[in-house]
Amino acid sequence: MTADSLKALVRTIPDFPKPGIQFRDITSLLADADGFAALIALMADAARTLDVDYVAGIEARGFILGAAIATALGAGFVPVRKAGKLPGAVVGIDYALEYGTDRLEVHRGQFPGGARILLVDDLIATGGTALAAARLLRGEGAQLAMALFAIDLPDLGGMAALVAEGLPSRAVMT
Ligand code: IMP
Repeated sequence: MTADSLKALVRTIPDFPKPGIQFRDITSLLADADGFAALIALMADAARTLDVDYVAGIEARGFILGAAIATALGAGFVPVRKAGKLPGAVVGIDYALEYGTDRLEVHRGQFPGGARILLVDDLIATGGTALAAARLLRGEGAQLAMALFAIDLPDLGGMAALVAEGLPSRAVMT
């Protein structure tokens, strides 16, 4: 299945979560058995030569894709969660949203220093979320091999921002 046929499986929901936002919804793609398998195969193939030790997925849709990619690559999975969800000792990072701030956390000591990590999320827009996750993981000693997304919204400049921070980035759909 090509990236174009995958794109046809993504729904656009107008005015979610706020008026004026066109929300790209991958649940329709996930529900399609061939589409889901093809997306995971394309994402795993994009990262296969990187020889990563872990895939870090960003809550919540990054868990769905990241966990499947991790098993395809024979890598472990590390959840990057919203504040207050992880039960053990955590390290966190606050980052700016359009209005206000948000916080991401990982378990302290979840991976050894120098571990090679692939960062995964469903979509990159401004890059604020992925950049915060990358800084958090690097702060814990990770070596970030790549940031990988199902969808890039290039007009918002997120991938360029990641590359400017020295993080190679790719997306299956634009
Ligand atoms: P960013 O931080 O501006 O790059 O926004 C990306 C984050 O917001 C990711 O965690 C996405 O899951 C989520 N996000 C933003 N816009 C959309 C969308 O249209 N569809 C799905 N997720 C989105």
